[in-house]
Order: sequence, then C-alpha cells, then structure tokens
Amino acid sequence: MNQKPPAIAARDERFRDSISTVDKHGKRVWLYPKRPGGKFWNKRKVFGYTLLALLLLGPWLRIGGEPLLQLDVIDRRFVILGRTFWPQDIHLFVIGFITFIIFVALFTVAFGRLFCGWACPQTVFMELVYRRIEYAIEGDWKQQQALNKGPWNGERILKKTVKHFLFFAVAFFIGNTFLAYLIGSDRLLDLITVSPRAHWAGFVAMLGFSGIFYGVFAFMREQVCTTICPYGRLQGVLLDRHSTVIAYDHVRGETRAHFRKGEDRRAVGKGDCIDCKACVHVCPTGIDIRNGTQLECVNCTACIDACDHMMTSVGLPTGLIRFASEREIADAKPWRFTTRMKGYSAVLIALVGVLLTLILTRTDVEATVLRTPGTLFQKQQDGRVSNIYAYKVVNKTSRDMPIRFELENSQGEVQVVGKSLDLHKAALIEGELFIILPPQEIKSYSTLLTMKVMAGDKQVDELQTSFVGPIHKAQ
Ligand code: SF4
Ligand code: SF4
Repeated sequence: MNQKPPAIAARDERFRDSISTVDKHGKRVWLYPKRPGGKFWNKRKVFGYTLLALLLLGPWLRIGGEPLLQLDVIDRRFVILGRTFWPQDIHLFVIGFITFIIFVALFTVAFGRLFCGWACPQTVFMELVYRRIEYAIEGDWKQQQALNKGPWNGERILKKTVKHFLFFAVAFFIGNTFLAYLIGSDRLLDLITVSPRAHWAGFVAMLGFSGIFYGVFAFMREQVCTTICPYGRLQGVLLDRHSTVIAYDHVRGETRAHFRKGEDRRAVGKGDCIDCKACVHVCPTGIDIRNGTQLECVNCTACIDACDHMMTSVGLPTGLIRFASEREIADAKPWRFTTRMKGYSAVLIALVGVLLTLILTRTDVEATVLRTPGTLFQKQQDGRVSNIYAYKVVNKTSRDMPIRFELENSQGEVQVVGKSLDLHKAALIEGELFIILPPQEIKSYSTLLTMKVMAGDKQVDELQTSFVGPIHKAQ
C-alpha cells in the first residue's frame, strides 16, 4: 500500500508479523468460520452455483456438435465455445493469456481480490460445496468446535466418516468432470461404463487425483488462498489507496466499544463498531478486517453481511464494512479512475482488439506447402517441369471437407501423390504433391506461385510457394 493516512499509520500493525492460522509455536490454527448469511451471501450463492453448473455441464453441452469447452492436451486439440483450436493457433493462446493477465491486473487494481471470493474454483468449491456439507453434518462453528474437542465416541466417528466419505465422493466426481474436459464426455462415458479392471492405470490415477482434491478441501482449505496461491501474493504490489476492496470504515467505527442500550455513542466518544467480532467469526481466512486491508482477505463479503446484521440489530446504519477504497474512507473522497488504471485499460483494449482481429480473421482451413528440401526440378516427357512439395492441411472446423489444390493464374497442374484429399472434421492430413508447369511459365529460376485450397466452390485458404526450374527462352 502507498502512503497511509494518519488514522492507519498510528495503528498497531504487529498483526502483519504473523498469519492468523499459525500459532506462536508454528502450529496450524484450525479455523471454524461461522455459517455466513445475508444479502451478499445470497448473491454469491446464485453466482457461484451458476459457475458450478457451467463447469459441470461444460463438457456435455454442444455447439454445432462440438463441446462448449474441451482442453484435449493429449491430442493437442482445444475446443472453446464450439470452435476447434490447434497447436497452430498457439499465438492466439499466448495473446489470450497475456490479455487475461492484464485483465486480472486491472481488475485487481480497481476491485481488489474480488475474483477470489466470488469466482475462484477454490473458494466456490470450499464455501458452496464442502463447507455446506460440513455445516449440514457437524453443525455451525460452535458445534464443530465442540465435536472436535470431544471424545471419539459413536457420534463423532459417524459424523466424521460420513463427512469424509462425501468429501471424497465429491472430489471423485469433480475429478471425473475435469477428465471430461481433457478427453471429452464421450470417451469419459466409455471409461466409466466399463469395469475399472479394463483400465487399471487410469482408474488409479483418477483415485490419486481425487485424493489430492479431497486433501485440499478437507485439510488445506484457506491455506491455499493465504499462503500458496501466487495471485494472493500479488496484492501487495497491485493494490493502492484507490483500489476498491472490502474495507472497514475506521473513521466511523473507531473508537470501538461494546454496545449499551440507549447510549449516545458519539457523545461519549465511541465509534459505531460495537466490537462484537461477528466479522471475525465469519471470516473463512481467520482475519480481522478492522486491522485494514490484508493479503489474506479474499473479498468474500461474509464480514459485510455479518456486520450489516449487527448494525441493523442495534439500530445503527449498515455499511460499516463495505466495498470502498482507503481514499474514500480516510479522505472522504469519491472513487477515482487513476492513471495506473487508465494505463492498464489502454493496454487491455489494444490486446483485446488484436485478439478479436486474429480470431475473426482466422481461416477454417490452414495449409502449408513447402518445397521438399534438397530436391531440384524434374523434366517430364511432355516437356513440362515439375517440383515436389510436402503439404500439410488442418481442418479447424467440425465438418468433413473434401479439398483440392488449384494454382492461380497458371496453366500448371497440381498432382497429389497417392491418397485422396478427404479432410475430416478437426483433422490434419499431410503428404506430398507435384506442381507441374508448362516451360513458358518459368521466367526466373525461382517462380512465385499462388495456390488456392478449394472445398467445393469455396476457397478456404490461400498460400504462396516457390517453383524452381530452367528459365524459358522464347524461340
Ligand atoms: S475479511 Fe471479510 S471479505 Fe475478507 S476474507 Fe474475511 S470475511 Fe471475507
Ligand atoms: S461486525 Fe461490525 S460491529 Fe461487529 S466487530 Fe465487526 S466491524 Fe465491529
């Protein structure tokens, strides 16, 4: 963070020397976040479950016969929104990835770690799936604490067994969903409808992957967000006083003090924070947002709901914790579109423009025809001259496409060696071909030729290649 306002600078910042989930002996402090609830939680549920539905349905939904999303790294084939991309499209992935990074940076500069709390798969699975299973079986935070402190009696063994069985079952289900993104839903169906004995290695790999997934949500939990995730570590350089984050209004809230009915808090020098710690109890990363913006905060908004509930209960205005920048709170100034945000936006707009142009001008078929290295020309019996070439044609569409090569502005001929040019959907064919020219068309040692790739009457690609041969001398 940049320069701090006096109200913050004077505060005890020793809490930054340690993290809330590790005690002074270096041991893990297990968190028991209170069950969240409120306006933002309801919105998060709608948003998060929509994302989950999209994730689960992604491999099964079809656009033009192709999946919504498939990342087939084994066959090096990627389907995004029904369009097939190949390794030849690597430049699109690189530009897309850079655009995504700039977008994330801009988004973070402007709105902090909002992505983490609302859209990150780690948080969505943890808070909307695993934690809810835990609340349903073990109860709210106090019951969970009591259960874990109590003896290993029948109730505890039963609850833990059911919980961990469900945790693993969900992990296994999610593992299979991710596998469908890799190998496609049809191949996944083939695999799961036969006995595991038919594919032991794959089955054991899936159990291993599910075990890692299970371990992350059953045991690692918030440690992923607070200590492992590199994006979380970036907050320190991306956030500044202008960034909108989940913030405690320390100007209004301090000096914090317990609530007393009928008391005029302002008159006795008390702020609006009633020091109930409801915001701390719901925090899934175990921090006290009243200390100020912290790297551990995933912007989940649970503390806003908790504080609003307390404020409403004691008849004070809501919004003591809210989306706001430090500048808005400390200096009472409105949100500003800063120079840094403008710079990131300009780069982002330029990159999106380049990416869109490349995607929109991307051809359905991509062909390369290269003269076979180390070969010269051959003279045919009829006096014509031929060169041999290696060709490669990729069909990026999801339909079969018989193709042919034609020379532009030439009396020459293209003869494909051997096989037919039936280009199946999302397939690649390669082979050799001859270009044969009448001698009068060879006017220099290396003649530049334009070749069209035709599918029926439609030209699907155009390329240039060179032809070598003896220069024709007019009689
Ligand atoms: S401080 Fe608030 S917004 Fe941040 S992680 Fe904790 S509960 Fe979520
Ligand atoms: S929930 Fe609100 S009132 Fe209660 S401690 Fe947190 S900031 Fe203060």
